[in-house]
Amino acid sequence: ATPMSVMVGVGKAAEAGVLIRNGEALQTASKVTAMILDKTGTITEGAPKVTDIVLANATDEKSVLQLAASLENGSEHPLAEAILESAALKKIELLKIQSFKAITGQGVKARCEGKSLLFGNAKLMAEEDVDLTGFTGRAQSLAKEAKTPMYFAVDGELAAIIAVADPIKHDSISAIKRLQANGIKVIMLTGDNRETAAAVALKVGISEFYAEVLPEDKASKVKELQNLGEIVGMTGDGINDAPALALADVGFAIGTGTDVAIESADVTLMRGSLHGLADAIAVSKATLRNIK
Ligand code: ADP
Ligand code: MG
Repeated sequence: ATPMSVMVGVGKAAEAGVLIRNGEALQTASKVTAMILDKTGTITEGAPKVTDIVLANATDEKSVLQLAASLENGSEHPLAEAILESAALKKIELLKIQSFKAITGQGVKARCEGKSLLFGNAKLMAEEDVDLTGFTGRAQSLAKEAKTPMYFAVDGELAAIIAVADPIKHDSISAIKRLQANGIKVIMLTGDNRETAAAVALKVGISEFYAEVLPEDKASKVKELQNLGEIVGMTGDGINDAPALALADVGFAIGTGTDVAIESADVTLMRGSLHGLADAIAVSKATLRNIK
């Protein structure tokens, strides 16, 4: 492609809110055969709201929310924001926490007022020997409603399940249809649990999805598809998507996502809409036509 036609293409894309960082990405975009989409914050709004608090060992919702929110105060995850927002709405004061640790793609832990707090998915609970007996069924039924259930443990005992629901972006379904109409295989990857992932995939018309994927395995999935001969596009918003974004043939970051994701990607979708993907591909096709 001539530098001039690439410049024109980059400009056209920018008008549509699609920032292309390098000319090579513009030229590769139209060749993408498989597009991987992260779920949380990419297909969905990434602004989940607390929908359910199921008490296990805890006696009241307010104290659960207080501890959980104090713990999540150190996290940047969209799920953390949901907990913090819910506590703020109820005017719950946050407590000081010590030795905060985020376990990417699994949850968070810390100490608070002499108690050890743990919040996250079933895998994290298993690793820390928290007994979930009697509660996994409840978590599963929440997940089937496309909610994300998280386990909250205090001193190694399950205190509650807190579920959040993350609405699907209003135009994700049509944007995914557009990609599929372009002959692109659309695949969803998420660190979230299998039932929630299945419910969301069904709603947006994606038949191939991988759930409970760890951050390092997101990149492995990209590599796997490349080894099968696919030209892989990856779209994500989180820290956990960064390695996959960097490895993909074209990485697309959601503009409202984390800085790490944006820095690792070739393209930024400023509007956050997945229509930016088909827009980028259309501009790429036009650019390549002009240079022939
Ligand atoms: P996605 O790939 O869909 O963006 P993540 O990989 O970031 O999701 O997270 C995977 C799962 O790990 C979440 O669904 C949740 O159960 C758990 N998790 C991650 N971060 C947190 C957190 N800050 N608080 C509680 N749970 C968390
Ligand atoms: Mg995400």
